[in-house]
Amino acid sequence: MALVRLSTTLNREEGLSVSDRHDFIELNISSLPQDSMNFPFPVQERVNPKARYIRVAVNATGEVVLTIPRYATKAEARAFLVSRLEWVREQLGKLESRTPEAARRPLRWDGADVLPLRGTETPVRWSRASLSRPQVRLLPEAITVFAPQDTRHELLTRLLKRTLINEARLEAEDLLNQEAHRLGLRWRELRIGDPRAQWGSCTPEGVISLSWRLLLAPPEVFRYVVIHELCHLPHPDHSPRFWGLVAQQMPEWSLHRDWLKRHGAGLHRWLARPPDADAPPPQADLFG
Ligand SMILES: [Zn+2]
Repeated sequence: MALVRLSTTLNREEGLSVSDRHDFIELNISSLPQDSMNFPFPVQERVNPKARYIRVAVNATGEVVLTIPRYATKAEARAFLVSRLEWVREQLGKLESRTPEAARRPLRWDGADVLPLRGTETPVRWSRASLSRPQVRLLPEAITVFAPQDTRHELLTRLLKRTLINEARLEAEDLLNQEAHRLGLRWRELRIGDPRAQWGSCTPEGVISLSWRLLLAPPEVFRYVVIHELCHLPHPDHSPRFWGLVAQQMPEWSLHRDWLKRHGAGLHRWLARPPDADAPPPQADLFG
């Protein structure tokens, strides 16, 4: 019988917050099944040689991430997850209750759909039109897709999503130009994506990546993420000097960070991506 001393640092930034940061427990490993266990939720196991502890996190899309350091076996990591099931269920429950009903189902194209465009609930309509190329119009009062009667719903949704991604790019460019000008900084390249666990990132070379889903947040939240990433150009860390610069640009920044903490998970449920097993793991910049 092997008694293994395990510890966890539950990652505050990757998903929902937890209070037990260094919580040592003892587990009787031999009493647990060694091979794959069936959990009632998707679990992504990630071997991370740099990790110091076995770690369980629930990310914004409701995925449970199990980080396995070099010294631990998968069986040990799974046993640890088993010991944390109650906490995981609690986090998943919170996630569910924070997500509006409409976000949890695909668009129905029945005239009753809505999307939170720039943080405001906006009706989504399908206007039957015989166009050779369907079109999408985004206005504050309504989102309208003009497409023939026989267009499949899936295609309408794809079309809408592509338009929103383009719009997010235009908006991001605008914000980057405005804020970079105010900061006296230069950015080089913008990438718009749909990462699971981060809203933005910034490389020392000035490549800024942002989630298109920021278009679904209030405009000031989008602006905050842009400012946050730009401030990483001179300060590639989360040091007091970094936060000082953010505060100088946007004194009320913490309101917007809090908004993301509270509602960020919900943004991931709209026009959800199909489950893809080989999605790249989240990278550096997770907001605390
Ligand atoms: Zn950051």
